[in-house]
Amino acid sequence: MRLGLVIDLDVCVGCHACAIACKEWNASGTIGPLSDYQPYGAEPSGVWFNRIRHFEMDEYPNNKTINFPMSCMHCEDADCVTVCPTGASYKRAEDGIVLIDQNKCMGCNYCSWACPYGARELDRSSGTMKKCTLCIDRIYDEKLPVEERQPSCVLTCPAHARMFGDFDDPDSAVSRVVRERGGYPLMPELNYNPTNTYLPPRRKPVIEIETKPKGGLKESIKQFANRLVRR
Ligand code: SF4
Ligand code: SF4
Repeated sequence: MRLGLVIDLDVCVGCHACAIACKEWNASGTIGPLSDYQPYGAEPSGVWFNRIRHFEMDEYPNNKTINFPMSCMHCEDADCVTVCPTGASYKRAEDGIVLIDQNKCMGCNYCSWACPYGARELDRSSGTMKKCTLCIDRIYDEKLPVEERQPSCVLTCPAHARMFGDFDDPDSAVSRVVRERGGYPLMPELNYNPTNTYLPPRRKPVIEIETKPKGGLKESIKQFANRLVRR
């Protein structure tokens, strides 16, 4: 089994609800608390597993804002695991989820430097590294109804831009939508083989806007006069 997320860049509206839901779940669940520094100070910062970047695609007037949620990609060949000197970072064989053993982590930051996706966060209050766990404490919780055994970000997204599932199963919803929509991983050239996959944003239809009247001033006056006559 290879669990991960599909994120539809065509649908994400950049509302940050996923990031807030993630923060809330992980601040109050078994992984938490995720600390914040100077939350009411001049330079507040804190631990976030899920961050939304915003980019502009193409040129005006055909430009489009792309909202790009990023969290741990649960890579198949993750250097964050291989560089970890204490063995705290590991990838689970049974479902592919990359985790950090909080009892072994010494906060050396090696994994953070090895991760090209900026997924690792040092929690200054505990001195240990933290990151997205795919809500492992939700997805296997048999006390929850089956439909709620999903990561918090997926359950929260009001635009339904996020899907969770098994990429090893060719018939799963995530595998099918990736095939149908030409989904791709972020920065495949690095060979980390991320599990999380993005569905590409569709381009806006190009609408030609005529800015100058044809035929110059004389033609414009003629068209204006014709419109008056037709009234
Ligand atoms: S995204 Fe970064 S932290 Fe997550 S598995 Fe890949 S290399 Fe490791
Ligand atoms: S909740 Fe959904 S729409 Fe909002 S930023 Fe996250 S992925 Fe995008």
